[in-house]
Amino acid sequence: MKKHSYHIRAVLFDLDGVVVFTDRFHELGWRRMAADEGWDFPAELAHSLRGVSRMEALDMIAAHNKAKPGPEKLLELADRKNTYYKDSVQEIGERDVLPGVLGFIRKLRELGVKTALCSASKNAPDVLKLLDIEDLFDVVVCGLDITRSKPDPQVFTMAAEKLGVPGFHCLVFEDAPSGVEAARRAGMKCVGVGTPEGLPDAPSLITSYDEIDIGALLDSGRPYRPVPHGWQLWEGEFRPVRSLYWESMLAVTNGVIGVRGNLEEENQGVASYPATQINGVVGYIPYHFMWKFPGYPDRGHRVLNACEWTRVTLEVDGERFDMRSDNIASHSRWLDMKTGAMHREFAWKTKSGVDVTVRTRRIASMNARHLAAHEYELQAGSPCAVKLVTEINAAPESRHYAETGMVCEAWETDGAGALARQVSATSGQKTAAAFRQTLDGQPGAATVDGSILRTTFEKQLAAAGRVTLSRTAAFFSCIESADPVADARKAISSAPAADGLFAAQADFWAGYWERSDIAIEGDDLDQLGVRLSLFHNRQSNPEDGFRSVSANGQTGDNYGGHIFWDTEMYIAQPFYYTEPETARGLLEYRHRILDKAREQARRMQNKGALFSWNSITGEECAHVYEASTAEYHLQSAVAWAVNRYVEATGDRKFLEEMGAEMVFETARFLRDRGCFSPHKDGRFVINVVCGPNEYSCGVDNNAYTNYLARWHFQYAARLFRELAAGSPEAHARIAGMIGLDAAEAAGWQEAADRMYLPWDEKLGIIAQDDSFLGHDPVDMSRIPLHTDVRSLVHPLNLWRMQLIKQADTVLVLFLFRHLLDGETVRKTYEFHEPKTNHGSSLSACMHCIVAADLGLEQDAYHFFRESALMDINDLKGNTDGGVHSACLGGTWMAVVNGYGGMRDTPDGLVLNPTLPANWTRLSFPLQYRGTRMLVERTRGETTIRHLAGDALDFTLHGRRERLEQGAVIGK
Ligand code: BGC
Repeated sequence: MKKHSYHIRAVLFDLDGVVVFTDRFHELGWRRMAADEGWDFPAELAHSLRGVSRMEALDMIAAHNKAKPGPEKLLELADRKNTYYKDSVQEIGERDVLPGVLGFIRKLRELGVKTALCSASKNAPDVLKLLDIEDLFDVVVCGLDITRSKPDPQVFTMAAEKLGVPGFHCLVFEDAPSGVEAARRAGMKCVGVGTPEGLPDAPSLITSYDEIDIGALLDSGRPYRPVPHGWQLWEGEFRPVRSLYWESMLAVTNGVIGVRGNLEEENQGVASYPATQINGVVGYIPYHFMWKFPGYPDRGHRVLNACEWTRVTLEVDGERFDMRSDNIASHSRWLDMKTGAMHREFAWKTKSGVDVTVRTRRIASMNARHLAAHEYELQAGSPCAVKLVTEINAAPESRHYAETGMVCEAWETDGAGALARQVSATSGQKTAAAFRQTLDGQPGAATVDGSILRTTFEKQLAAAGRVTLSRTAAFFSCIESADPVADARKAISSAPAADGLFAAQADFWAGYWERSDIAIEGDDLDQLGVRLSLFHNRQSNPEDGFRSVSANGQTGDNYGGHIFWDTEMYIAQPFYYTEPETARGLLEYRHRILDKAREQARRMQNKGALFSWNSITGEECAHVYEASTAEYHLQSAVAWAVNRYVEATGDRKFLEEMGAEMVFETARFLRDRGCFSPHKDGRFVINVVCGPNEYSCGVDNNAYTNYLARWHFQYAARLFRELAAGSPEAHARIAGMIGLDAAEAAGWQEAADRMYLPWDEKLGIIAQDDSFLGHDPVDMSRIPLHTDVRSLVHPLNLWRMQLIKQADTVLVLFLFRHLLDGETVRKTYEFHEPKTNHGSSLSACMHCIVAADLGLEQDAYHFFRESALMDINDLKGNTDGGVHSACLGGTWMAVVNGYGGMRDTPDGLVLNPTLPANWTRLSFPLQYRGTRMLVERTRGETTIRHLAGDALDFTLHGRRERLEQGAVIGK
């Protein structure tokens, strides 16, 4: 099919300061002209003329000299300066070219990327000629072509047009703030050539072309990205502009609490959100509608920043450390995925001459989910006075929440211990945060200032030596605790020392990797992307039955901490097939909010239970109902998850106590929401819905929704019969409780049997819905990729476009593959994929799976990389607000369902492992209905190794096989 190209398809260069330094020639020209006139021309004035057009520069020089030349004189002066400039620029040569830039441009061109030169200077073409580098640019736009200078975007938009590349696929290199702004206005990515002080608004910066990772640049529009470093996610160089991004990437969470990976000290001018979130502790926001319809929510809610406790200020011999301190010899931070800890290390020489090395580490404990630990160790090379001040704010501000969030009711302190009683101002949820802090076993001096507790630790080192600040924290909320204060107090006093917590954490992760690691040989970046996905995915799972996984886990709050269908259909997939018991808590959480779902169904004037589209507490937060509440497919996703979990674990207790009730109540909702339509030959239809493609709203019969609903009805009806036969007591209890009888269950079967499934005979494809094929065709070259275009187009225009946000019908091709023939899959994929802008991070993984199934190697690998490197590339530009949780689970699916060809079908497990061209080996463990195995694929051979559990019949590369206990099957 199609060959996918880089995200960045054209690179646009400013001339001065980006490709060449002609400044000195301009300066010479102006200086000679000023001297002719007897004018003053200081160095600062010369500097401020960079990137400014000739006439504007002249105005500035005249104003500086309080001269007011008339229009004719002005023209004459400008001409004269230009003549002087042209004289001197004849000497331009290699030494005026920025080091490395020409090689870089050549490399871009070799890779098929288009290049343009975009300069306000009218002499730009002459300069290129003098240097003999005209052939390095497909297009040159200069001062002769444009009518408006930067920050007007004209110079860039004109170049993009001439190149035939849409602005969103263009990247600009600029050295002037006006150029950075022009690129922004042109909707282009931009790399600043210079320093943060000179270019404060540049989204990324280089000081030399040698720094550029060209792969990163073309994938993401940023000149660097995390580079492979074994089991560590490694931030080598600290770049203030990427600070929030790294805080998300390095966050340590355990699903209950999430601690962002901020620097310990406060650094002026460096954006930071040093939050710790408690999953489920929220603040409410009132919703205001001019015209409120029935069912509209009165309010929404968002997860709060519950506490900021990782702040530590360091002073040695009275000198305070921050990232701008002189003499920082080295600095790095990393996430050690093997041991589940975030680390930082830096070396600093104080003005008093002391060599200081600081090592810090922190965890959110996976063993004791209410605990976190933070250690700050300082080693000094000679005698010195060390002062460490910790700061804990129990009522911090929340990044995306303007109202008052947490309120600190009181601080209690006692020696090394401290406890804050807190309450969420709007939800009234009570929480408690307890701490124990010591420096080499000794408590510090604590003072309370409102919501802030400061503790000072001082130590005089008489010789070279080391001090260790050791901190443990316990967080409880009324969500899981009847008395959060008592529980926090108890947890902190009985918590092991920080050392013990770190050791137990390492054990936890060793066990996890043993059960779930995916090993890839042949591409280190792919391996990093996959491991990082597994790591963040696993650490997002709270496993406590009170909570679920939000769209950013607890690494940030971009999605308000809300839980979507992401959990059941993407995030939990690796759990179902590697550690299925860990998915139970997620389903218990759904059951916990089942009453809210019943209320929501009533509010929507329907029967049964309707889980809210985006929510934490169970209350619907969506005020745009059309692409949220209307996504009724979430109801079947919950039933799907119940089925996967129960099939994987055989947990009948859960099914009888919680699972079946949810399956029935959601089926009841869908049965009530749809109807048998006389116009469709009496088939069961579900009208006015939204499928996963949120660009098409209010559609009739979304294929994904209907396919899944058919399965859901079949499952509910079967479960009703099975329970009646196998667990009559549970059956009677549930039926009595929700007023269910055999006639209603038979109605589900009937709806399944007569389900209407959209199909287009002429094209031989599953149509997305009843109207999509008739929608307005779209010129995809004008649609930005990886962007949610809902913010760019009015809904009335968007809804009629043949444009797809993310895998929708393509999901049917994966989930219901066993019902479809290859030709249908191919045609349906080929029809829908080219109309998809992958505006959601949930898209690429599903496209990888189906492309791999179809043998479309390039497509499959392209989508695999897009998914596996989503946050590494910061492809959507919003990782600063948290990693993309669904995509993490989706990446496991891209590997296991895509390259592993794994399908869980009514006939059992199917495997069909393959490798992309650049991998030499792939291996992953699977647990299928109690049988554990290791799947390995090398070039040409597949090996399935039995690890534990019963023998298993399954299908490998199209043939039935039996995996005996202890056996290895090779193919
Ligand atoms: C996607 C939804 C997803 C949500 C949260 C949206 O952009 O379209 O499918 O549930 O993000 O990740």
